[in-house]
Amino acid sequence: MPDAVELIRAKRDGSRLTPTEIRWLIGSYTSGGIADEQMSALLMAIYFQGLDVEELTAWTDAMISSGERLDLGGLTAPTTDKHSTGGVGDKVSLILAPLVASCGAAVPQLSGRGLGHTGGTLDKLESIRGWRATLSNAEILTVLRNAGCVICAAGDGLAPADRKLYALRDVTGTVESIPLIASSIMSKKIAEGTSSLVLDVKVGSGAFMRDIDSARNLAQTMVWLGNAAGVRSSALLTRMDQPLGRAVGNAVEVEEAVATLGGKGPADLVAVTLALAAEMLRLAGISADPAAALTDGRALASYRAMIAAQGGDPDAPLPVAKHTTVVAAATTGWLRTLDARAVGVAAWRLGAGRARKEDPVSASAGVICLAKPGDMVEAGQPVLELRGDDPGRFERALEALAGAIEVGAQPPDPADPVLERIVGQPPGLELVS
Ligand code: URA
Repeated sequence: MPDAVELIRAKRDGSRLTPTEIRWLIGSYTSGGIADEQMSALLMAIYFQGLDVEELTAWTDAMISSGERLDLGGLTAPTTDKHSTGGVGDKVSLILAPLVASCGAAVPQLSGRGLGHTGGTLDKLESIRGWRATLSNAEILTVLRNAGCVICAAGDGLAPADRKLYALRDVTGTVESIPLIASSIMSKKIAEGTSSLVLDVKVGSGAFMRDIDSARNLAQTMVWLGNAAGVRSSALLTRMDQPLGRAVGNAVEVEEAVATLGGKGPADLVAVTLALAAEMLRLAGISADPAAALTDGRALASYRAMIAAQGGDPDAPLPVAKHTTVVAAATTGWLRTLDARAVGVAAWRLGAGRARKEDPVSASAGVICLAKPGDMVEAGQPVLELRGDDPGRFERALEALAGAIEVGAQPPDPADPVLERIVGQPPGLELVS
């Protein structure tokens, strides 16, 4: 039997682990045979030494094999999904799943909850009265058959090794490792059973990946892992230096998503959503015009069907915050910067996000961007509206916004929200953190 300490030393000193050793490590850790302190040391060794392609494949496979795989083979429509690395105001999933379903695909979107300054799709949808995030596998299939799309919590049976490893990485400073992030995300998406997958890798102040080189490396690694596992995969690198759309929070993002599904969305949100939809439809082998589905009511009808199929009332009024305050422009000029991270942290401090995974979130708290970069603003004109039910939270939220708004004499350069498309693995992929 392999020895955990020997394997930790080997990785620490830059040796490769064999697929058998990796299977043993992940299997033993999941079943409790390897202690947290030993796995922590191994994760730190991987953080510094990386994993090569063979190790990464074995690591990901072992995480998939730690649990069940959803069988979507009985569906007639081609399956396709999207994963975002997370951003501020990123309500794209709420629009994209029904939009792509209305074009003829089946979209099984198994999601997580938000942690930190980026919100979680499930938290947003839970602001809709009656809507249920937790479904059995049989219910997932029924909603998919009837509505064409489902957005729900990934069950405990899916990649349980990742759940345990991710919690450990979170408290040991080992989250920010490209092979560990890529294997974590892809093990869950591959186990979900989708035939194709588009990765939305966010780049900028509000994203996990602050610079384009790291984002590209992560995207290439995930696309490679997906294709190697038989899931047709591609990625878009998209900007996250300002909030996506105007609403940041839970109920406020649902409201903006519904407006977008009805053809009245903000330009940046529509552009990112349509680019991802085109990519998903291409991978699913469907020829359709997603822009038309947004304006002719088909996407909105799919959304309403999905919400109702999961117990939600799409017509129920959304919760509204009891208190508001505004942040105004200090001078007159062009709004040049609206820092995504600062706005995300402000929304989080108002109660829209959680610090620990067991914390509750407020449905009504959030931030509305009344102006966006590229708009002209006057001194004293409100740029942000902060919303929340707890007046005691506003001071810290306002502190987060110090320096977040920059007004200047020149407009910012126009910037396409989609930076790059990644369809395959280039030679010389470096799989280190
Ligand atoms: N999201 C995941 O699911 N895993 C990571 O490691 C990071 C983000």
